[in-house]
Amino acid sequence: MNKKIIFGLALSVLLVLQACGPKKKPDETTVPARAVQVPVFNADSAYLFVEKQVKFGPRVPNTKAHEQAADYFVNQFKKQGATVIVQDFDATTWDNQKVQLKNIIASYTPAAKKRILLAAHWDTRPYADKDHEKKDASFEGANDGASGVGVLLEISRLLGQEKLPSVGVDLILFDGEDWGTKDNVKSAIAMPEGFEDWWCLGSQYWAKHKHQKNYSAYYGILLDMVGSKHAQFFREGGSLEYAPSVVEKVWNTASRLGYTDYFVKTNVGAITDDHVFVNEIGKIPMIDIVHYQSGVGFFGDYHHSRKDNLSIISKETLGAVGSTLMNVVYYEE
Ligand SMILES: [Zn+2]
Repeated sequence: MNKKIIFGLALSVLLVLQACGPKKKPDETTVPARAVQVPVFNADSAYLFVEKQVKFGPRVPNTKAHEQAADYFVNQFKKQGATVIVQDFDATTWDNQKVQLKNIIASYTPAAKKRILLAAHWDTRPYADKDHEKKDASFEGANDGASGVGVLLEISRLLGQEKLPSVGVDLILFDGEDWGTKDNVKSAIAMPEGFEDWWCLGSQYWAKHKHQKNYSAYYGILLDMVGSKHAQFFREGGSLEYAPSVVEKVWNTASRLGYTDYFVKTNVGAITDDHVFVNEIGKIPMIDIVHYQSGVGFFGDYHHSRKDNLSIISKETLGAVGSTLMNVVYYEE
């Protein structure tokens, strides 16, 4: 994820710090008209999926851990009854490394016309360049990468075990999101053909080579850094521009479930993340649920540092995000 803010607003000083207390009472004004049985998102299970990824080691492209994690995801999705497509492709990074990348797509009810796309990136940044001491060190990427994937793996488990929703669901794990340029360092090579940004290589590739001809989705939801303790998700500018009604739906659903401490109804600036390319190139309206820290800005102080390890991951946060997504998906008709 790129910390670069496209049209960032200096709103942070104006934002009221939200207290992260116990779950609030559901908001009565957003109760839906019909009742739907939504399988219960298991936060303990989601946490174990995050832990499992961390145990492979940093999922840096061209490493054994990256390969092992990819195999694990494919097997896990298959075990849970999904139709799985692996999209292998080669890419060049800004520092001129040739990397072998894989986007992994797991589909449920593939014949359904109306589809919801849920995505996260699964690769880990190769260096902790925002660490205060060891900027060349690797880091666990427990939040940056593994948290979003953990939520999607738990959703996959539920889709495999429980009654499916009315809509089709596609889970996409994008590769090569996080090997972008370092702060104040320019690439010495030209942008390779077929790419327009050093960040988000997997989503750029997928948007130009979708796993199925003419594939589209009703809308998409991207997860990035959705697992840290007391995380808050503000309404990101790009999401508001591309898919305002989806932002509305997701934040209202969170509010109905009592997660207003996590999903804050405050608008902030836009960032470069995988949803930009799914919108711009893939032409699918997609929002980004991404950590924003009041008074600081996007992401927390763990970002791209060795602090991004399992100790910052909270089951409660994973549960708030996962339950919200499950409700959004199951309430679609
Ligand atoms: Zn990142």
